[in-house]
Amino acid sequence: MVNWTRDFFICLSNSKFLNKSAQKWGFRFGAEKFVAGTDIGSVTRTIKEMNARGISCTVDNLGEFVSEKTEAESAKRQILNMLDKIREEKLDCHVSVKLTQLGLDISREFCIQNMLEILARAEHYGIFINVDMEDYAHFQATIDVLKILLQNYGNVGTVIQAYLRCAEDVMDELKDIRLRIVKGAYKESEAVAFQTKAEIDRNYLKLAKKRLLGDAYTSIATHDHNIIRALEDFIRENNISHEKFEFQMLYGFRQEMQYELAEKYHFTTYMPFGNDWFGYYMRRLAERPQNINLIVKDVFYT
Ligand code: FAD
Repeated sequence: MVNWTRDFFICLSNSKFLNKSAQKWGFRFGAEKFVAGTDIGSVTRTIKEMNARGISCTVDNLGEFVSEKTEAESAKRQILNMLDKIREEKLDCHVSVKLTQLGLDISREFCIQNMLEILARAEHYGIFINVDMEDYAHFQATIDVLKILLQNYGNVGTVIQAYLRCAEDVMDELKDIRLRIVKGAYKESEAVAFQTKAEIDRNYLKLAKKRLLGDAYTSIATHDHNIIRALEDFIRENNISHEKFEFQMLYGFRQEMQYELAEKYHFTTYMPFGNDWFGYYMRRLAERPQNINLIVKDVFYT
């Protein structure tokens, strides 16, 4: 059942037609529980609420797999405006971006130019930019672009997906930069990715522990209480400095646990906003079919 629903929602998340249509619908099917607002004004209010509770944020202007230059440029402008807002309002917040939203599928050079503009402004303001990791079809291109960006800027990092068989090698190659460790959200083939939860969890713990023993900053991004508890034990037993890591979770997930972790460690909530919510929300439903009840409520009770 879980695999069937997972495949179904991942398939929906990849539909260009549905992603485009959903931009005109406004939030539907309970998406507002996981998307922090439609525009910069509304997400800023939510960030301020989280900051007041000692929680830092990383904001994501939703959108991916863009095929028109004008769309990528408009996404870039929105990200630049968000950077201005973070600075203006002194928000405790950094920014997560997806390279396919900034034109990676149009041309690598165009995408790099957009990123350089974003990184220049972010560096000027002292803001970190995280390059989210997308599906495996974009994996190598993302790493290649990142390496070019790193030649000019130090305020950029990326994500390691523990389901990828090559994760440890890539992580080691990027050992000096800030990294977020996740399990991985896309459907990938057996050739490139572990398929079972047990294998993915084992690799996640191995990668996170290795990072915690190294020097660079690590974001432990998961809602999995078993992994979190195991890493808390590891941190305590190895006397790992709390300045070297943080926990991260997605907006709308396990709120009480977010507050609990934020009492003890640095904590960041991933805060998506914007009208392009469909692909992101379908991936969240793929991970947690229990949330399908949100769709049922929306369809039958509104
Ligand atoms: P899961 O295996 O989904 O959950 C493990 C267990 O935790 C479940 O069995 C359940 O018992 C419990 N649990 C989980 N959620 C809940 C809940 N809401 N309520 C109660 N119990 C729950 N993926 C990418 O591919 N690229 C990215 O750039 C990326 N960035 C991310 C950033 C952040 C901050 C986070 C948190 C995730 C990101 N992801 C990204 C998604 C990630 O790859 C996983 O798909 C997603 O986090 C689900 O995996 P999990 O680690 O939470 O564990």
